[in-house]
Amino acid sequence: MNEALRPFAPGRHGAEHYGNAPLHLHADVVIVGAGAGGCAAAAAIAERGASVLLLEEGRHWNPMDFKADTAFAFKNLYQARGARALRGNTILPLPGGRGVGGSTLINSAICFRCPDAVLDEWREDHGCSTVQNDRFSDYFDRVWSTLGVTVNPIEMQRNNNLIFRQGAEALGLKGDFLPRSAPGCIGCGICQYGCPSGGKFSADRSFLRVAEQSGDVGVYADCRIRRVETDGARVVAVTGHVLDPDSHDTRQEVRVTAKEFICSAGPIGSPLFLLSNGLADSSHCGAHLVVHPTVAAMARFDQEIRPWSGVTQGYWVDCWEEGYLLQTFTCTPDQYFSTLQTAPGRATMEIMRDLKHYASAGALIHDEDSEGRVRMTPAGPDLSYFVGDGDRKRLTAGLRKTAEVFFAAGAKRVHPFRLGLDGIDRPEDIEAGLPMTLKARDLFLYASHPMGTCRMGRSPDSSVVDPTGRVWGWDNLRVADASIFPTSLGVNPQVTTMAMALMIGHELMA
Ligand SMILES: Cc1cc2nc3c(=O)[nH]c(=O)nc-3n(C[C@H](O)[C@H](O)[C@H](O)COP(=O)(O)OP(=O)(O)OC[C@H]3O[C@@H](n4cnc5c(N)ncnc54)[C@H](O)[C@@H]3O)c2cc1C
Ligand code: SF4
Repeated sequence: MNEALRPFAPGRHGAEHYGNAPLHLHADVVIVGAGAGGCAAAAAIAERGASVLLLEEGRHWNPMDFKADTAFAFKNLYQARGARALRGNTILPLPGGRGVGGSTLINSAICFRCPDAVLDEWREDHGCSTVQNDRFSDYFDRVWSTLGVTVNPIEMQRNNNLIFRQGAEALGLKGDFLPRSAPGCIGCGICQYGCPSGGKFSADRSFLRVAEQSGDVGVYADCRIRRVETDGARVVAVTGHVLDPDSHDTRQEVRVTAKEFICSAGPIGSPLFLLSNGLADSSHCGAHLVVHPTVAAMARFDQEIRPWSGVTQGYWVDCWEEGYLLQTFTCTPDQYFSTLQTAPGRATMEIMRDLKHYASAGALIHDEDSEGRVRMTPAGPDLSYFVGDGDRKRLTAGLRKTAEVFFAAGAKRVHPFRLGLDGIDRPEDIEAGLPMTLKARDLFLYASHPMGTCRMGRSPDSSVVDPTGRVWGWDNLRVADASIFPTSLGVNPQVTTMAMALMIGHELMA
């Protein structure tokens, strides 16, 4: 494992260090994509003695670089400059992160261990023999401690979270503050723009640091990988280009050889990479996309809420048995404006003028009969997703429940994100405002948890990777990111992504 043809320099490198010559490197293990999966896999491999090189298309970031500015964040920290979306029986925005840290740079830091029932299903129904509950319990413990997971103090939660707790308690619902990977959170409410306080332990500030302790890890940012070279049975090299960090234009060639390769480009990037290189066929690769579709509401209170302030997502209500979770969220005023689906014009402007009196929360659905697909077409990536009838009903039920919680907390008016609906003034009107006949396209949906497009399983007839993460048919190519989940998870996925990546890293080094 330690033989290196052309060594790389350990440490963090970016476009400003590469000069103009082609970048030709070698390591024991190369990982494409430095997000949740890539950084955790790097830690598991590096601690067992191999040299690891991570290639990431986005940049390195420091907390002081982040700005509470949508245009800056979308351009620099988001895939497709914030415009990534799914088409189908409705349109869903599908934001994803870009940069060393991946989507953890812009996530809300919510942490859930994967429910045992889901692990059981993956092992028993999908043949994921490596997914044993005891083994994963250890991995979840490790993720928990590496991310510094904690419940933030009540003074950081602020009104948007506290008011939802008040409503949930009034209704006797099972709810709690959310454990988060942000032990130093100061409650500035802009997780989706990068954490300017450094209080959030994104993957670059947690697992990547663990990996770097080996002294044999190099992180090459601003490198987009597109192609592979193979000898028929094994991958020999990955190739791509250095990107200009500002314009994203391509510069010189990147070519990296290794003994082992891991694709951690995320649930959209990984299937696109495998499909465009003919490393997997489309019977399962790119298929089975699940995303946790989410729908939300805002609610007006007499008292000031100041929804832009406090832990971004701090409180949840457990409706697992009904197929969804309720979670609070905050965003910046311009983001509230862009998601408001009340009658356009005056009504929206009145809410914006009055924004300090509003709270916001929504329902996250465990996709049960919805599915999508990632395809590469001559015109570029095509991402589709169709909301199933059962999930459509669960979305409406979750939105109704969100409205009930707000009214129980004393809301004077609730604005569900239902197209064309101006608002609901009384709890008795919730059913009429949100009938179970609503179509998916009547709701303003959102999703930020893609999963399942390179699913793990017992055979190539039903999956893309084997239970150790190896791509069927390729000895030295694995996938380690949220694409390998055999099903939708039902809870926020970063912890499970990291646990799966630790397992795959250890299997590779076994
Ligand atoms: C706005 C938002 C909020 C979220 N909030 C939460 C939360 O609170 N809790 C939670 O559990 N989960 C949350 N998530 C989801 C969670 O962050 C992801 O599930 C997790 O990061 C997925 O890890 P991954 O390794 O699969 O992909 P990512 O973390 O997205 O990493 C993939 C990386 O690969 C890089 N890449 C892609 N293609 C290439 C290529 N060709 N060459 C080089 N590099 C490439 C990308 O730039 C990216 O950095 C959120 C996600 C978003 C977008
Ligand atoms: S709310 Fe907390 S974790 Fe999120 S960006 Fe602000 S300080 Fe960081």
